[in-house]
Amino acid sequence: MSNRAIVANLYHAPQRGSFEYIEQACIEIDANGTITQVLSKSDHKYNEVIASHEQNNSLTRLANNQYLLPGLVDLHTHAPQWPQAGKGLDLPLNDWLNQYTFPLENRYKDPDFTARIYPELVDTLIAHGTTTAMYFATIDSAPSEYLANVCKEKGQRALVGKISMDEKSMCPEYYVESSTEVAISAAETFIQNIREIDNQQDLIHPVVTPRFVPTSTKQLLEGLGKLVQKYQCHVQTHASESDWLVILLSKLFRKQMSSCTTKQVS
Ligand SMILES: [Zn+2]
Repeated sequence: MSNRAIVANLYHAPQRGSFEYIEQACIEIDANGTITQVLSKSDHKYNEVIASHEQNNSLTRLANNQYLLPGLVDLHTHAPQWPQAGKGLDLPLNDWLNQYTFPLENRYKDPDFTARIYPELVDTLIAHGTTTAMYFATIDSAPSEYLANVCKEKGQRALVGKISMDEKSMCPEYYVESSTEVAISAAETFIQNIREIDNQQDLIHPVVTPRFVPTSTKQLLEGLGKLVQKYQCHVQTHASESDWLVILLSKLFRKQMSSCTTKQVS
């Protein structure tokens, strides 16, 4: 990819809390895909930069009724749940997990199924403008690493988490890690493997991902916390997702939800 420029009506948000509209902005992009300058008509270099890219055949002009927006960032995407997006909304969270979602997530043990779903998901997100996504994958490492590879190949910035869940009383037999030690070891190997997919740590990042407190033992959370410290990586989970969860955790920990999730996850 060489230097190029786009001339377009641009909405962007250079500062938090405000946005700016630039009519017929000229956005110059270097060979790495990084925006190097954004010029408006009043900039003295504006005409010169456009003329230079026109000459080099490296200028793209959007039509006057088109608008250019910064890439969208999805902070919470359950990649394996893509086939059931918008479906199965008739059950509360706990039943929904056991009847629909755990069985679906377990299907990603099959590489052929995974290969049918994940590329289509990433293509769809990119086509809708989502240039960065933070993903929950599944408890299985291989399909979770495959998702990270798909994102790398397609050029989507991705933060990918292999789900960790070891609390046998809260997980179905077929969808739980065999022991806390195995879960921690798998999470560490996952971090190392994802860092190898993108050793520049530019596009692809591993995320430590305990599903939520009831499916993770205290020992698992402590082990994962040490990994976060050791590798300085991101962490994600769920908190206060439904009345069922709030009541359950209040009973389990005899504390208010906000207090017990913060304590357990930190
Ligand atoms: Zn979620």
